[in-house]
Amino acid sequence: MAATTIKKVTIEPVDVPLEHPFTIAIGVQYAIKTALITVTLENGVVGYGEAAPLESINGENQATVLATLHSCKEFLLGKDVADYRKISRHLKGVFWAQVTARCAVEMAMLDAFTKSVGLPLYKFLGGMEDKIETDYTVDIVTPAMARDNAAKLAAKGYRLLKIKVGKNIAEDIDRILAVTQGAPACGITLDANQGFSPMEAINFLEQLKKHNLHPVLFEQPVVKHDLMGMRFVKDHSFIPIAADESVFTPADAINVARAGCADVINIKLMKSGIVDALDIAAIARSANLKLMIGCMLETRLGLACSVHFAAGLGGFGFVDLDPHINPDHDPFTGGPDFGDPLYRLTDVPGIGVSKR
Ligand code: MN
Repeated sequence: MAATTIKKVTIEPVDVPLEHPFTIAIGVQYAIKTALITVTLENGVVGYGEAAPLESINGENQATVLATLHSCKEFLLGKDVADYRKISRHLKGVFWAQVTARCAVEMAMLDAFTKSVGLPLYKFLGGMEDKIETDYTVDIVTPAMARDNAAKLAAKGYRLLKIKVGKNIAEDIDRILAVTQGAPACGITLDANQGFSPMEAINFLEQLKKHNLHPVLFEQPVVKHDLMGMRFVKDHSFIPIAADESVFTPADAINVARAGCADVINIKLMKSGIVDALDIAAIARSANLKLMIGCMLETRLGLACSVHFAAGLGGFGFVDLDPHINPDHDPFTGGPDFGDPLYRLTDVPGIGVSKR
């Protein structure tokens, strides 16, 4: 039996309260509710994987990811994590719609495997960069709060602020102006989370121009399936358009490239899993689309895995991996050195996080 064979699997919920509720165009979140899968190998190595579902985005929630992970348990026992692609393909065939749970299994296998071979995950993925710089998100709050948050983030060292929009154009413009007042030196990106119709998105872009606002990116202006609507927006936009919710799979990435509806693809491991995220990145690059990486509301484990992914592959022009969790409440410790706003990778094998 290989030293890298899985001999034990445990599954548990992870619940962490947020300091403040987090509001975007498609809902409000009050807590981080994820699931943790832990695999232990014959060689004693332990690998961790997190599933961070967001029901309004991927149709999964904490209960369904826990149920899916429990359904995978028997299958995983006795499998060799060195065969992670084979295992991942099999699970995709069975649980094709449960991508967030599958991402956790892939994460745990890759954590355990790279620990076993003594490599940090980002080195295993190619080691293109050893540090990345993240933006930070200002969610849908009052202009006064947005101004205050922006000023605090700028003082911490963040240079790019992402502003959630897409609920009400006039309020969105007020909030964006408030952020630029609070943090005049910061660049801004906008994320509508599918909140606009194509015409509303174009009116919104006109308003930005009128107020002399020049964001560097406009993410997912319209509903995810409306690639032609997004193309219409892109054709009338003076800033680059990113596809986020429109791209879950490599096939989605090809459709976005064919439709010519975006300049950037936002990869999130929780939308595609890690194995398919590698294909999406390859498709985006080949189609001359820029790469972005984002996250759900995740603990340090999921976030660290995305940091390894982006640094290992390199070339991510937009990094949106901001932690929303108080480190004192995080069930994990370690991983990359999480500075504001620079994340530095370390030589610790695997993802590098451990349970507190
Ligand atoms: Mn987004």
